[in-house]
Amino acid sequence: MSRKESIKKLREQLVRRRDALQRALEGDLSLLRELHQERTGDVLDAAADTVQDELNSQLIEAESRELSAINEALERIKRGGYGNCDSCGKPIPLTRLRAIPYATDCIGCRRKAETRSAGGRAVMWNRVFDNAEVDSY
Ligand SMILES: [Zn+2]
Repeated sequence: MSRKESIKKLREQLVRRRDALQRALEGDLSLLRELHQERTGDVLDAAADTVQDELNSQLIEAESRELSAINEALERIKRGGYGNCDSCGKPIPLTRLRAIPYATDCIGCRRKAETRSAGGRAVMWNRVFDNAEVDSY
């Protein structure tokens, strides 16, 4: 599959995820549950440990953050520039994009950023997804 085709697929995933998150934030969790059931075993849900917790209202903040990350990614797909690292400008490997379709930096730059700002909540949240891709390919 070409990179272009892969990104088209990722876009579909992003749209579905966005819709599910939007509904979840409006209080309707059924779509999100459906999506999780469907994707069991998939690399996106290697973060399955967090899935149950997503139903927890404490994570509404994380969902909002993910939602804006997704919207930004969709915007970049439209505008161009999607899939390139914000920091070094190189294409982000597809394996990473499949694990985190809204990633805006490559693993190398992400690690560097984490070292610089160790400890923040946002960093921990990203790390859940980063770990998910490590042993998947
Ligand atoms: Zn980079």
